[in-house]
Amino acid sequence: MQDAQALLSSVFGFSAFRPGQAEIVEAVASGRNVLAIMPTGGGKSLCFQLPALMRAGVTVVISPLIALMRDQVRGLHEAGVVAGALTSGNTAEETDAVWAALDDGSLKLLYIAPERLASSGTERMLRRAGVSLIAVDEAHCVSQWGHDFRPDYLRIGELRRGLDVPLAAFTATADAETREEIVARLFDGQQPETFLRGFDRPNLALAFEVKQNPRAQILSYAAARKGQSGIVYCGTRAKTETLATALREAGHSACHYHGGMEAEERRIVEGRFATEDGLIVVATIAFGMGVDKPDIRWVAHADLPKSIEGYYQEIGRAGRDGAPADTMTLFGPDDIRFRRAQIDEGLAPPERKAADHARLNALLGLAEALGCRRQVLLGYFGEAAAPCGNCDLCQTPPETFDATTPVRKALSAILRTGESFGAGHLIDILTGDVTDKVRERGHDALPTFGVGTEFDKRGWQAVFRQMAAHDLVRPDPARHGALRMTDAARPILRGEAGITLRQDTIKAAPRRPQVKMLVSEEDAPLLSALKAKRRALAEAARVPAYVIFTDRTLIEMAETRPMDLDQMARITGVGAAKLERYGAQFLAVITGERPDDLHPARRKLAGRDAGSLYDRLLAVQADLARGDDGTGKHVTCSSSQLAKLAATRPADLSGIVRLLGDRRAERFGDAFLAVLRAAG
Ligand code: ADP
Ligand code: ZN
Repeated sequence: MQDAQALLSSVFGFSAFRPGQAEIVEAVASGRNVLAIMPTGGGKSLCFQLPALMRAGVTVVISPLIALMRDQVRGLHEAGVVAGALTSGNTAEETDAVWAALDDGSLKLLYIAPERLASSGTERMLRRAGVSLIAVDEAHCVSQWGHDFRPDYLRIGELRRGLDVPLAAFTATADAETREEIVARLFDGQQPETFLRGFDRPNLALAFEVKQNPRAQILSYAAARKGQSGIVYCGTRAKTETLATALREAGHSACHYHGGMEAEERRIVEGRFATEDGLIVVATIAFGMGVDKPDIRWVAHADLPKSIEGYYQEIGRAGRDGAPADTMTLFGPDDIRFRRAQIDEGLAPPERKAADHARLNALLGLAEALGCRRQVLLGYFGEAAAPCGNCDLCQTPPETFDATTPVRKALSAILRTGESFGAGHLIDILTGDVTDKVRERGHDALPTFGVGTEFDKRGWQAVFRQMAAHDLVRPDPARHGALRMTDAARPILRGEAGITLRQDTIKAAPRRPQVKMLVSEEDAPLLSALKAKRRALAEAARVPAYVIFTDRTLIEMAETRPMDLDQMARITGVGAAKLERYGAQFLAVITGERPDDLHPARRKLAGRDAGSLYDRLLAVQADLARGDDGTGKHVTCSSSQLAKLAATRPADLSGIVRLLGDRRAERFGDAFLAVLRAAG
């Protein structure tokens, strides 16, 4: 079996595994059944692509979306891997190429759409093709509970039994219910080796902001990231359209996307997003699974997501390439009310509603966190972590205060008015505002009337919002907008527990948006030039830009400025095939020169010791081309002869004669041997 680490760098151009990958690759490559749960962008594809190269035979990959398959196949081709897809979107030539590669035994990965499993010939075809491993991407699609359910996924278990080969299933969905369903349906209930880890995405910056003027907040966030690809998630379809218009009016390139659009319109947006640099898509969560663009630089939520899992998946679409990416989520009391009502009014059985409230609570706990957000987030997924330094609360620790007394005043106002009113009226009572409604109901006679002198109305709104986020109060689904006290609030009301809240979100904090740069000012012009080159190549090849190189790779080029192909080969994401194809052109952008016409034989050695050995041999040869005294007959070796010398390093003159023949060995033999020996 080929060495995983060596393939990782030679084929994919990565110097190290991401957390969790090495163990999964090892398990899959050795043919064990595997269930791997990794976060979006954690690098799941590599965990079956690499084993596929290590193992004999063909790996069949089942993936729910044709677009995803095509992107992966394209990426593999760029990396020099023989892979193909059989989908309804193929051209006849593409399909012929797949069959040819299957016949001559060169195909390593075969992507098929789940629909294909319904046809009776598929299993026979796969057996004949010599399938030795099944990989299932987005394995949660077997779950009937989830909204990604794909009935054809239910046939995968049967296929595994029929082919009797190991199966590796991958998903980003972490909850226990879904996991159990995957084990039951894909593995016949036999527990596979399970990997659940690596939920941290350290390159994602985390931030939440209380809604003040949401539209202005999103516009200023986007303005600080002008020209970078981003997604704005909205709670409603209508909002995606108005916000996209507002962004365009502010000079951004932006479009909207939601489930109510025609399939064709949606496909156009997906295509533009994949290929254009710096497009903003304003979308509902319908814009999701098919999006695997690795260089999304930011994700903003214009509305609060519905659960902590949803939040995590959505922000996870940013920065898959590992370069820094920003996320920001807006929330306010209306969001909390809306999400609670959505659960309460849904048709799910009571246990499920309770679970959904708990998931929402977890997200609200994150929104109102008092310390590092990443610690709270990872804690929810069962991982311990140190404060991250890459979230808004690490950067600006929040001011907090003991809110026990004001919270008790608020709870008392709720109880004394029969749990029948919303925050607005309750705040009028607390602040002693004699409105018509207060007078009509006689609420100015309550003992709580006017006791809330510590805050103005705005301040009290922030207290009520935080109480709702801590699940001390909930809107009563039966009485629109009325707040009920929850059991969690009782200990506070009885004086048995205290509560700390944030002070800083009570006072509005005006903020100047800071322009976010991907690289330092001095590297920025080079980065733009590299991006322009990438765009030109991508357009010529009709592939998304990131298929050529991801942002992360270009950033590393701009920052480290490789001066030759050897240094270029060490850049993350530059594997052998891409070095061969694009290395010289990007190098030319960096050095500002026309590409050195490196002989292909030399290019193959780039990044290896043999490469510099070749260069030294070439220099010696140039010195001796006309003999010791410069008057002899002109003699040179071919590039492939030099490459062979550098790669095989003969130890004596007879070895040199074998490679170069007598005449050249006579001229260069001693000098070459000296170089080879010095290289040890
Ligand atoms: P997902 O887990 O969401 O399917 P992908 O497999 O698409 O994630 O990987 C996300 C990105 O991370 C891709 O651009 C991929 O090339 C990159 N990647 C994967 N593994 C590594 C690694 N070991 N080092 C650097 N980049 C990696
Ligand atoms: Zn932090």
